[in-house]
Amino acid sequence: MKITRISVFQKNLPLKDPYWLSGGRLKFEVLDATFIKIETDSEIVGWGEGTPWGHTYVPAHGPGIRAGIETMASSLLGLDPRKIELVERAMDTCLPGHLYAKQPVDLACWDILGKAAELPIADLLGGMRNSGTPAASSVSSGEPEYMMDIINRYRSMGYVAHSAKVGGSDTDKDIERIRHLESQRRDGEIILYDVNRAWTRREASIVMNAVAEFGVTFEQPSETLDDIAQIRRVTTSPISVDESLVTLQDATRIARDGIADVFGIKLNRVGGLTKARRMRDVAMAHGIQLFIMATGGSVMADTEAAHLAQSIPEEFIRACWSCQDMLTIDIAPGSGPRCVDGFITIDDTPGLAVTPDESLLGDPVAVYQS
Ligand code: MG
Repeated sequence: MKITRISVFQKNLPLKDPYWLSGGRLKFEVLDATFIKIETDSEIVGWGEGTPWGHTYVPAHGPGIRAGIETMASSLLGLDPRKIELVERAMDTCLPGHLYAKQPVDLACWDILGKAAELPIADLLGGMRNSGTPAASSVSSGEPEYMMDIINRYRSMGYVAHSAKVGGSDTDKDIERIRHLESQRRDGEIILYDVNRAWTRREASIVMNAVAEFGVTFEQPSETLDDIAQIRRVTTSPISVDESLVTLQDATRIARDGIADVFGIKLNRVGGLTKARRMRDVAMAHGIQLFIMATGGSVMADTEAAHLAQSIPEEFIRACWSCQDMLTIDIAPGSGPRCVDGFITIDDTPGLAVTPDESLLGDPVAVYQS
């Protein structure tokens, strides 16, 4: 089987509500999504999506994905997309770094491999767990009552996991937010406090020690792994790392040095499933739990994450994410798993099992063919 044509689509995905990260530091209203369709000399077609969470969140942006695909296209045409790691090496050779541009290509190849093998991607990743994965809500930062209202809205949809954004320079306000949400947390409910790198070491130490009694997990409290390693020494609260978990070398360092207790794997950030599954294995070998998510995007991006999540045993998986619930448009009506009663569940459909309605994507912005 050979890749014969690569079509690239751009689509704006508006958010239902404007979104603030870390005490108003970053605001988003629309996501710039790239969809990729890989055709082969067989009947099989694969789909992928890469959607950064705005342009200001991590070093990734929509136009960069499309430029990266343009640069890599001639090295991809003619390859067998089922040979996932040969495709990975070809991309890494012709364009070092730029992992976020590679993830949609990688996903489309996994989709093709699954369809060819007549197995869902979760089975190709080692074997699908029989239960669905809890989806975490994403709770925009704000006044404590405002954040509680968002959690209550998600609770009414069945959600049991929430990622609440904290991390302003007002440490008293962050302590107030956490105490307020924890006072109303229900039994069995998970609230992860996501700082999105916003705290200095001093601020992290103040807030995390002030609420240590709750034993709650803090995600990405500061900018770098060096910062987080230092915070680890002066606090007892569990720590998750996502934005600083980019390469397999980051994963092994975090595991060996005991920097974090949870890996938050963002598939667009790390370059796709091929690289993420190695991080999954490092985590499980070291007693580290996992939170698997897209960086953002439609049902397609959510489903990619849900496949990897459902290849992870229950005792290691924390949650995945349903970004699609935050969007005003659906590019694949009737296709792919949806968040039902707070869980996303993969079935036996081969491949990714999401096919977009091409009429909703518009004309391709680029086509590369042999
Ligand atoms: Mg995070």
